[in-house]
Amino acid sequence: MAQTGFYINMNRCSACKVCVIACKDVNDLKVGYNFRHVDEYEGGVNPAVWAASISLACNHCDEPACMAICPASAITKEADSGLVILNTAACIGCKECVTACPYGAPVFFPDKLKTNKCHGCRGLIAAGGKPACVAACSTRCLDFGELDSLRAKYGYNLVNTIKGFPEPATGPNLLIDPKSQMRI
Ligand code: SF4
Repeated sequence: MAQTGFYINMNRCSACKVCVIACKDVNDLKVGYNFRHVDEYEGGVNPAVWAASISLACNHCDEPACMAICPASAITKEADSGLVILNTAACIGCKECVTACPYGAPVFFPDKLKTNKCHGCRGLIAAGGKPACVAACSTRCLDFGELDSLRAKYGYNLVNTIKGFPEPATGPNLLIDPKSQMRI
């Protein structure tokens, strides 16, 4: 299997946040803790105003800053899928990955003294399904799969960064169809 990742079409995202809730449910996360979040943007001058939103979690980067800094070697990148996996059994709760990730993906749980993050719902994928966020998306703006297959399906004008994002130095494996106002 080649590198996998998420696709998101900002032109269809309605910021309903069903993806956030589906992710929260499948990962059994408490109130106040989420692996996925929706960023919202707005601009223009009345009456020509616009709004945009994008659903984000871990980008399963090519050069994961979280993995590079982890002193416990608790974060690895799967050879077959390219998913970046955090082994909570090995995590020592130092929060270095939380600080290092430019996208705010790792989440520290004070009650467990552990960090965790999106693992691409690899169990669901292995069973032939899609990640919970993708399956739940109310506007079908999210997808997940091998990047080459996603490009073939959705087009080759997709990007891995938009205005307001950090420099894509970690090689985020994210395919965005941006709102025109957000395209760099
Ligand atoms: Fe690591 Fe953050 Fe990249 Fe995910 S998005 S692989 S947590 S650096």
